[in-house]
Parts: sequence; structure tokens; C-alpha cells
Amino acid sequence: LMFGKARTCNIVTVPEHEPSECNIVILGSMGSGKSALTVKFLTKRFISEYDPNLEDTYSSEEVVDQQPVIVKVMDTADQDGPVNCERYLSWANAFIIVYSIDNRNSFQACQQYIETVTLYSKGLQPDTPVILLGNKVDMERYRQVSKADGAALASRFGCRFFEVSACLDFLSIQHIFHEVVREVRRE
Ligand code: GDP
Ligand code: MG
Repeated sequence: LMFGKARTCNIVTVPEHEPSECNIVILGSMGSGKSALTVKFLTKRFISEYDPNLEDTYSSEEVVDQQPVIVKVMDTADQDGPVNCERYLSWANAFIIVYSIDNRNSFQACQQYIETVTLYSKGLQPDTPVILLGNKVDMERYRQVSKADGAALASRFGCRFFEVSACLDFLSIQHIFHEVVREVRRE
């Protein structure tokens, strides 16, 4: 095989290069649902009890718009906001910043995370997409952060914004991760 040439398999022609990788870092205060969202995306299941101090990186082979991609998800476990960010800032192709709609403090923490990552990635090529995520919409009765507040914060920083719940349908969670891959591909 020669580099740059396509490999011929009977009828179809398959590009020789490996599937691309997309490194996604999940940020947000403790309890906002980062691990629940990560596990839901990877296993389609909602795990209600997850070690709050466990930080790990997971890998999943996905197909987005008929193109394979290895999605790596770093599920962070910061104790007090953005500290020691070096471990993920240069690794990330994209950030998902999570708060819980029933917790105003978690929303305030998001602002710090957005500032940190946008300050870092400013002027970097390619640009690193940031997605703001309001989690736990199933807790509507206890809502402390309006959808308008979430949308306003996102637009101040030019981020995409979604509201979701890690304990509702898998497809809406998968959709968000796939949108992140699409944003990274656009850069
Ligand atoms: P992390 O610290 O950000 O990783 O948060 P976890 O994923 O560990 O979730 C913290 C708590 O919130 C756990 O008790 C989860 O069961 C719960 N949780 C996570 N996502 C949701 C959600 O969408 N809805 C509800 N009702 N609870 C959630
Ligand atoms: Mg966690």
C-alpha cells in the first residue's frame, strides 16, 4: 500500500486514512450531571450514583454523517471551579460546559468555565467550540435558571446552547455529542 492512495475493496473505494478523533472535555460544577451525561452517551443508560471524584477519559467509535470518528470524552471532576486546567485545555477539540437548571450556583460556575476556556482558545487555530448545556430539565418544578438566562450566557460567548436531561431519552444526548463533532469538523 502506498500513502495517499485509496485501497480498493471489490467495488467500493475506501479512503486509507484512519478515522479522525474528536476530544471532548466535559466541565461544570460537582453535581451538575457531567458523569450521568457521559455515561448516558456511552452506554444509553442513566446511572444515578456515580463516584463524584472520579475523573476519566472514555472512547467511543461513532459514525456522524456517514463518517467514522473516535469520540474521546474527558469527564472531569473539579472540586472548586476551573483550577489546574492545563490537563485538558490543550487536549480539547471542544468543551461541553454543564450546569443544572435547578441550581443557580452551578450556572454561575459555568460562567467561570466559559471565561477560562474562551480566554485560552482565543486566537488559536482552529477555534475550539464551546457548548453550554443546561441539564436536569426533568426537574422543571425546581428550576432556578430560566432558559432565557442560559441562552443569554451562551450568546454572550458565541456558544451553542441546549437544555437536556441525562435521565430522559438517549437520542437527545447523542444528538448533542454529534453536534459537537460537526462543530469541530467545521473548524
Ligand atoms: P457530576 O458531579 O457533574 O459528574 O454529576 P453526576 O453525574 O454525578 O450527577 C450528580 C447527581 O445528579 C446524581 O445524583 C445524578 O443521579 C443526578 N443527575 C444527573 N443528571 C440528572 C438529570 O438529568 N436529572 C436528574 N433528575 N438527576 C440527574
Ligand atoms: Mg462526575
